[in-house]
Amino acid sequence: MHARSIKAAIVGSGPSGCYAAQFLRKCWSDAEITVFESLPVPYGLMRYGVAADHQGQKAIEAQFSRVFERDGVHFVGNVTIGVDLHFDMLAAAFDVVILATGLRTDRRLDIETGSDCRVLGAGEFLRALNGWPEVDLPRKPDGRLAALGKRVGVVGNGNVAMDVVRLLGKADADFDGSDIDDARLAQFRAAGVRQIDVFGRSPISRAKFDIAMFKEILALPNVNVIYSGIDGGEDCRALDALRTRVQMPAAPVTIGFHFCATPVACCADGDGAVLEVKQNGDRRDFEIDSLITAVGFDPLSSRDPASAGQWCGQHVYRVGWLHNGGKGTMAENRRNVKAVIDEIRHAFADGHLATGAPGLTALTGRFPGGHVDFDGWRRIDAHERKHCPPGRVRRKLTEVGQMLAVARRHVLASGMLTTSC
Ligand SMILES: Cc1cc2nc3c(=O)[nH]c(=O)nc-3n(C[C@H](O)[C@H](O)[C@H](O)COP(=O)(O)OP(=O)(O)OC[C@H]3O[C@@H](n4cnc5c(N)ncnc54)[C@H](O)[C@@H]3O)c2cc1C
Repeated sequence: MHARSIKAAIVGSGPSGCYAAQFLRKCWSDAEITVFESLPVPYGLMRYGVAADHQGQKAIEAQFSRVFERDGVHFVGNVTIGVDLHFDMLAAAFDVVILATGLRTDRRLDIETGSDCRVLGAGEFLRALNGWPEVDLPRKPDGRLAALGKRVGVVGNGNVAMDVVRLLGKADADFDGSDIDDARLAQFRAAGVRQIDVFGRSPISRAKFDIAMFKEILALPNVNVIYSGIDGGEDCRALDALRTRVQMPAAPVTIGFHFCATPVACCADGDGAVLEVKQNGDRRDFEIDSLITAVGFDPLSSRDPASAGQWCGQHVYRVGWLHNGGKGTMAENRRNVKAVIDEIRHAFADGHLATGAPGLTALTGRFPGGHVDFDGWRRIDAHERKHCPPGRVRRKLTEVGQMLAVARRHVLASGMLTTSC
């Protein structure tokens, strides 16, 4: 028992931050728990990473929202630690600080790339399709996102690469029940994507994707699937699925899976580029208009001081993607968070950590831009669900100013806010 209740701060409201709040509440029913979040909206990559057409994965949101609604955890959105509030000030106000800031920067492909080649990180691309408000991708003079062209190369064989391929290849009519950002998807596909070539270094038997993700692509009715880099001696479920797939040469989109294929250079060529690939000792050239790299996230080039190791202290802990170097599903991160909360529990029991910090009250009036609480998020949530187009479950607001206006109940003269990119 503690004479005074524990005051805990969590930085980041993605899945790991939400799990941390949940486990802390289970350990200490009287703890004061505050979750700080840069955006006015919670849930991090659950909202902005998990693919828009995988709503089943996003159902975990109901569990997370109970943490704030029922378990009395404070949500302090629209506050970036390190920008709106100095980390030292935060650290002084709480008995324990849990950093759950994730990793945002796509790992760069380590090959020779001409400066005219259009290369996008898969994380940035998928966040854009998920309505992320800070998209930093090439735009046309009118502000619309530049089209990817007809031929897209995708480097990587993990589940993020499979998300990219599926979302690019899927027909418009198959997005029913999703919350895809239709405007951005149309802008990316404005030239009509016809060919998607996917390059993985490993043989098919060691490809990192989940078989269910792979089969979902093979089941797309509007695509033809071709493949290369299979030596015939291999035996695995992915290959069985590939071989039994019926060929559809007249389909509008062709997806080529190339295994044992390592890109070595990408050179500009006219309006597009040529991707040079080494495959089983041979060199092959692929003509592409854009290249999307899905080769993980980079802990070192992150703009975030948390991952640069600047934020530390005896009572400061790291969880989730920040801790794991941008790896793992939500379930894997849950296990990591549980282990860290156990560590914290022992640290209080052993006397390495102590109560006595003032908590959130010490920071009253410290957020000059104003913060968004959980009721504010609920107003945004209700607005997005109410104003979604037919066949969609929500239309995300894509500008922070719009989110703040809705959270603060400001109604524009038109009576309805419009989304724009
Ligand atoms: C494209 C993609 C698809 C995925 N699909 C799935 C899937 O289908 N199923 C699955 O289980 N997993 C999936 N994952 C993995 C899953 O998203 C991660 O396991 C999980 O989001 C990691 O959670 P996190 O809380 O550690 O980080 P994040 O989700 O990144 O959350 C970090 C949060 O911290 C906030 N933040 C950062 N800096 C600050 C600061 N200084 N101050 C305040 N707030 C800050 C950010 O805004 C963000 O909200 C996917 C990942 C990606 C990229």
